[in-house]
Amino acid sequence: MPSSLCETIKNSADNLEFPKHDDWITSGKMGSREAVLVFRTNILNPKTRKNLSETYSSPVLPESRSNMEATLLCRNGENDISSLSLPLCSNEDLSGSKQRKIYVSIRNSVNINQTENSDFQSTAKKMNKQYSSSDTSMSSEGEEPTRNIKNKFRTLKKNPNDINTNLVEDVSKESGYDSTTPAKSITNISASEEDECVTEDDEECGIVMPAYKLKITYKFIQTETKLLRKIFDVHGLREVEGDNNFNLLWTGVHMKLDILRNLAPYQRVNHFPRSYELTRKDRLYKNIERMQHLRGMKHFDIVPQSFILPLESRDLIIAHNKHRGPWIVKPAASSRGRGIFIVNSPDQIPQDEQVLVSKYIVDPLCIDGHKCDLRVYVLVTSFDPLIIYLYKEGIVRLATVRYDRNADNLWNPCMHLCNYSINKYHSDYIRSSDAQDEDVGHKWTLSALLRHLKIQGCDTHQLMLNIEDLIIKAILACAQTIISACRMFVPNGNNCFELYGFDILIDNSLKPWLLEVNLSPSMGVDSPLDTKVKSCLIADLLTCVGIPAYSPEVRSHYDSKWSRFRSSSCQRSINVTSVSYKIKKNKKKGSVSTDHLTGEEQRILRNARLQYSRRGGFERIFPTADSMQRYGNFLDSTNGIPISTPNVQGQTFQTLIMQHNYNQMLHSNLYCQDTSYTIDDSLEKNRIKQYERALETGSEIPFVKKPAVEKSEEEGRRQRKLMLKKIGTGSELTQFQARQTFSLYLESVLRRITQDPRDNHEKIILKFLNKFGGSVKPPVLFRNTQSIKVISKARSAMVAKLLGDFLENYKRDTEAYVDSFDHFGMIPSSAYHQFLTHAQESDLEAVLTLHTNVTGIMPFLYNRCGLSVPPTPPIPSGLHGFLRALPSMVSSSGVAREVSKYDGYFKNNDKDYENVQDASIRPKSSRRF
Ligand code: ADP
Repeated sequence: MPSSLCETIKNSADNLEFPKHDDWITSGKMGSREAVLVFRTNILNPKTRKNLSETYSSPVLPESRSNMEATLLCRNGENDISSLSLPLCSNEDLSGSKQRKIYVSIRNSVNINQTENSDFQSTAKKMNKQYSSSDTSMSSEGEEPTRNIKNKFRTLKKNPNDINTNLVEDVSKESGYDSTTPAKSITNISASEEDECVTEDDEECGIVMPAYKLKITYKFIQTETKLLRKIFDVHGLREVEGDNNFNLLWTGVHMKLDILRNLAPYQRVNHFPRSYELTRKDRLYKNIERMQHLRGMKHFDIVPQSFILPLESRDLIIAHNKHRGPWIVKPAASSRGRGIFIVNSPDQIPQDEQVLVSKYIVDPLCIDGHKCDLRVYVLVTSFDPLIIYLYKEGIVRLATVRYDRNADNLWNPCMHLCNYSINKYHSDYIRSSDAQDEDVGHKWTLSALLRHLKIQGCDTHQLMLNIEDLIIKAILACAQTIISACRMFVPNGNNCFELYGFDILIDNSLKPWLLEVNLSPSMGVDSPLDTKVKSCLIADLLTCVGIPAYSPEVRSHYDSKWSRFRSSSCQRSINVTSVSYKIKKNKKKGSVSTDHLTGEEQRILRNARLQYSRRGGFERIFPTADSMQRYGNFLDSTNGIPISTPNVQGQTFQTLIMQHNYNQMLHSNLYCQDTSYTIDDSLEKNRIKQYERALETGSEIPFVKKPAVEKSEEEGRRQRKLMLKKIGTGSELTQFQARQTFSLYLESVLRRITQDPRDNHEKIILKFLNKFGGSVKPPVLFRNTQSIKVISKARSAMVAKLLGDFLENYKRDTEAYVDSFDHFGMIPSSAYHQFLTHAQESDLEAVLTLHTNVTGIMPFLYNRCGLSVPPTPPIPSGLHGFLRALPSMVSSSGVAREVSKYDGYFKNNDKDYENVQDASIRPKSSRRF
């Protein structure tokens, strides 16, 4: 480090007036190069924050500490002694108006100053309890207490208090526009993925977090953010928009290369370049298939046999003739079960779309007869050297309908797919309503599943070893391209990290199969259990990755210094001859000394060790003591890069550029004792045991549902009359208002059909989606299924899921129409808002009907390009008239061409549809006012 930078760090550390040791900072002294922020879940609890605030604003602090720095020294019961220092201040301090700082630290010491008053000691005890060693966000080398394994595992019994039943309250029973039935409804139903959040009253606790003091910032790009934002905010990070002046960038999409190229050493981003090699289903399967050819099927038999259509149609038919189906068909770049269907034979697969077709695993592991799959969280902090962690807790998703291999059931997504986004709409879906209920309902934790399997006599140790192996092999298969991209675009070894969501299906012989790897796995939460797992996961992830606790001065120093290098090549350079010499020298000596390592190697080793010490609930699965023995063959012998292309071994461009072998270097320095590697079985046992342990948190993490806004039916009717009058006298809804009304209307319909399935309404919705759903299409089997006469809850769930997907897209598109001011002749936004606040389905329907009859355009037909659409036929008034009219919109135009072949089913069955066609509809010009 240049001396001037050293000085900057020292000066800024002196100026910051932080205590020397602080539990919000770890791995180094405040302001030092290694110092990083600590993230904890405890502080998510408003009570904890309030307690901290009260503690420090109460007069218990002894006068002797009036120098604004108080130290509490105490023993943490019989547990480990923990250390805590908290910089504290009043709310005024947060606004920066008054710098009155108090620091309290609880240290590992029994030297309690007996003269301190007793209040002071009880405060310390209170604090210590709140920050107990069970907080998973802190690393612990010791064993965590295992939660009592319950002998009796709960079945999928419905909990009367479960959130599902409480969440969707009684919606208005439809009884016509002028219904007087008292009704309650909820304004915010979301059709999207898990969407509740730890919100709660967000009062500040008065703690000035180091991140706040250090002005550490984060930036979001296209990501779902509630839980993440909450965690960042309570830890004092501030959000920035628009520029590149962030410390942490969290995006829901792949990184732009330009951003990567310009990263300063202290900046962190949550993706590696070209991660799509792993996260796009088609790329993943191709990469693994290549490894199967190169290294042998027996080593890489980790994914179901798969084909990309239409390119590999012939191969699929050959495979089908050898081993009959069923096959599962998935759009190549999609998620959350969208567009997936199962077929018995390849000729049932449409030839016009690019899809991935995989062998359907017909004998999945079932819990209480329900198919399940796993979501496990994998953190990669570096690809060269390869450093992989697996989070010790994962999520098990169960299908709602009992599994049955019979081919007649292949259409049923709630039996064959375990996605939450599909099953949540099934009326039998059960959510656990307590964070401790890890084996209740249709979402379990991984640890609960392992305990369950263990009780049944399954070899869970081997299962988890196999899962680790599968993860490592999938990453090895894709790493080569990612490493090349890192070399080209990432200027600093620590800039990138990535959390992948691995979806794994276990078959009934306990063999794990990799289904897919998710880029940006969902951080949405829908239950207390979800909140617990994901909050701990994020806190541990951020601590493990390490957000540098640099002061703004140090950062600006780096910025100015760094900017000089940015325009030049960002490849990390290394002196070829010196490295190869040093590796040899080290080998010869067989020593664990790091003296002979280059500066870069020492940095890598130091970082790996520090990171490991902060790993919290993450288990490092690569490197491990035996990783070279197991996977050494898949790495290039010279440079240690995982090789997945047959013709470049020993002459990849990486080799030409540099002759390092970071994997070998790291492994030998972490695990080499004298001249030999010692493989200690107990290390492996301990690691695998961790997966069976339930996550412990220091204090309860709140899960708060969005408050249900009670609507007044009477007020709704009054507002509706006002709105109808306004439209009747010449005012119009803007496009934005019309679209918003339409999406709220569909939300009401969605809520209703999940509560009270109605065959004819489902058919109308399917027909509508077939015509206008865009990418949201019912699976082919489902579209064409004249044989499915039974009206089932599963089918209702499927329709609801499709409508939910459509709504999500529609709402996203609607954002582009926002009105920034009131237009002349349009409904004023305040009046419109009043209407929406109380409107129920019938009110929305009445307004939409009149609006459409006046304008001749259905809201979903608006488009920003101004393309003309044929006029909409007039909508009949009366209950559900608008819904029935939906599919008939512009039915003769080209929009509906594709669906005509499926119409038979509806024509035969949907009397409502026929009625709409026959209805004596007034000409468009006849306005009803
Ligand atoms: P998505 O990304 O849309 O969620 P997945 O590949 O994860 O797609 O598959 C969705 C669901 O389908 C999984 O939850 C799993 O239950 C089921 N599934 C996927 N592939 C297979 C397969 N080859 N055999 C059996 N079930 C599968």
